[in-house]
Amino acid sequence: MSHVLGRVDYDDGVTPSRFFVHDNTSGWSIPTLFSDPDEAWRIYDHGKSRAMQSVVPAHSTHVRAVRKVLTNGRGFDSEESTTREPQFGLATEDRLLLPLTEGGNEDKYLLLQVEGVLHVAQETDGGFSGAYAHPLCKDRWEYSAQNQEFAFDDVLGRTLVLCPLCLKRLFDASTRTSSAKKPDSAAMKRPVGRPAAVGGKRVQVYLDDDSLFIAGWIGKDGNVSDGIRKALRQALEKRDSRER
Ligand SMILES: [Zn+2]
Repeated sequence: MSHVLGRVDYDDGVTPSRFFVHDNTSGWSIPTLFSDPDEAWRIYDHGKSRAMQSVVPAHSTHVRAVRKVLTNGRGFDSEESTTREPQFGLATEDRLLLPLTEGGNEDKYLLLQVEGVLHVAQETDGGFSGAYAHPLCKDRWEYSAQNQEFAFDDVLGRTLVLCPLCLKRLFDASTRTSSAKKPDSAAMKRPVGRPAAVGGKRVQVYLDDDSLFIAGWIGKDGNVSDGIRKALRQALEKRDSRER
C-alpha cells in the first residue's frame, strides 16, 4: 500500500492522539493532523495532500514533543505490534513538525538549551570535533559544552516553551504546499484592529518580518494586535516567575 496511516501521541494524559497520512513511495508524511482517521482518509482520497493542508488551517501554536507511529495499512488495529519503530519529534495539535520522514533523508533534530532558551537544533557534522547541535534560528553557531542537549523522548508529555524563531522555521516547512504563497504574506493580510472587548488606543508599531509573522501566528485567528498583547503578557509572566 503506497499510503498508510500514522498517529501522533502527545503523552500528556490530556490530549487525544491525532492522525495523518504517510506516503510510502516518497517516504514523507503529510503534516496535517486529524482527530478522526476516517476524516483524514476521506479528505485524502478526494483531494490529496493539498486538500488536507487547506481543510485544516494551521491554527494551533502549542508545540509539544510527540511520539510518531506508522501503521502498515489504513488503520491501527491488532496488528499494531507489527508496525515500525516509533519516532520522536514535535507537533502542534494540527501539524506534525518533526520528523516528516521515516529517517534517512532528513536531518536529525534535538533540543538545545542555551542560556535558558530552548532551541530546536539540527545535528550537524563538525568533522574532527564530532557532531554538534546547531539551533535552527542561528546562521552561525559555535559549540559550547555549557549548553544542554535533550532528545525529544526525554521531554515527552511536558510543556515546552521553545524559541519562536526556531519554531517559525519548522512551522513554515510543515504548512508549505507546492503552489502556496509564503505563509508570511497570509499572516500579514489577516485582520487587524481593535476588538470590542479591549480598551486602550490605536498606536503605530513597526515590526520586522519575523516579529510580524510570530505576532500573527500566536494571535487569535492570525490577529497581529492580539498576538502582541499575548506576547507581552507572556513576557511579564516569565519575568515574574523568574523573580519568584
Ligand atoms: Zn532558536
